[in-house]
Amino acid sequence: MADPAAIAARIRQWAHQGPQGPMTLELYPTLKCNLDCRFCDTTERHQPRQDELPLQRHLDLVGEAAEMGVERVFILGGGEPLVARDLTPAIMQRVKDLGMEGVLTTNGTILPPSLLTQLIESGWDEIHVSIDGATAEVHDDLRGQAGAFRKSVHNLCRLRVARERAQQSTPRLAIHTVLTKLNFRQLPELVELAHALGCFRLDVDGLIAYRPEQKALELDPLEREELVQVARIALARAESLGLATTLAHYTQQALPKRGQAAPAAGPEPGLKGAPCLKAWHYLVVQADGKTSPCCVLAGEGESIADQPLEQLWRESPFLESVRQGMEAGQPLKRCQECSPNILAHERVIRSHL
Ligand code: SF4
Repeated sequence: MADPAAIAARIRQWAHQGPQGPMTLELYPTLKCNLDCRFCDTTERHQPRQDELPLQRHLDLVGEAAEMGVERVFILGGGEPLVARDLTPAIMQRVKDLGMEGVLTTNGTILPPSLLTQLIESGWDEIHVSIDGATAEVHDDLRGQAGAFRKSVHNLCRLRVARERAQQSTPRLAIHTVLTKLNFRQLPELVELAHALGCFRLDVDGLIAYRPEQKALELDPLEREELVQVARIALARAESLGLATTLAHYTQQALPKRGQAAPAAGPEPGLKGAPCLKAWHYLVVQADGKTSPCCVLAGEGESIADQPLEQLWRESPFLESVRQGMEAGQPLKRCQECSPNILAHERVIRSHL
């Protein structure tokens, strides 16, 4: 997790020195995917690649990001980034060659030996693997492919072993879980699994449900009450194991469902009270080049395909509208879909302003 005090320090410079570069760049190399998750929003995931940024634009983009002071590059998908077997490893290598921190989120089913070697030799920093159940039965059902659990767990083991053989502390490993009615009772077992696989963190995040098949996976009111008890047990176990988690968000009775509450402004006016500061420190670039300050607003901003990163960051009408709205305490309507995990981190950054 990025250092909130360092992010706040850079945001403070905007007032005296004008726009500063983002701290973090989030790249989605491709929309294609090899799985068929029941809660997925990426409807193009099984179609041929179209309008996706070419390798050279990605490499140039990473170089421009380094020049602007970006410290961390997240590579993830809505799509599976490692389906792009040549493109994604090349982007990752460029990130490390330029001295930035690299974080990859993957479904964990694709890890060729060449990439494993590259991850160790380049000093890749962090890998988050999506695991949505503590058993193959639950995970494979949610991920739409028999054998997916076995592959992902096997590859986490390979990463751990390779890291230990190289006597390195990197890549750090984490598990990411989307909470559904099929897996919430397995949270304590997911804590045990993450610990057994050498992970330092278990991130649990809420489901965003628009389509009927997504809504069918939402917890009902009784299950949400039960979740509080399960999350408390899982959190206590995680703390005893020294495993970082986001489970504390689920131990409260009044947790709002995603999509139903606008992010709250702070008590002070202007930037210091902004409900969220992402548009000052974070940039997401979709596979087709469209930009946004976060994954929730994905695809709503201008494209990076034909303009330099610095120009887009300083002049994007969409980013500017998000910034102005936040300073006025009026986030966009879609911000109601924001994740409690994101908003908690933004509140900590705001506290350092
Ligand atoms: S959706 Fe969330 S992270 Fe994105 S700008 Fe709105 S409040 Fe910030």
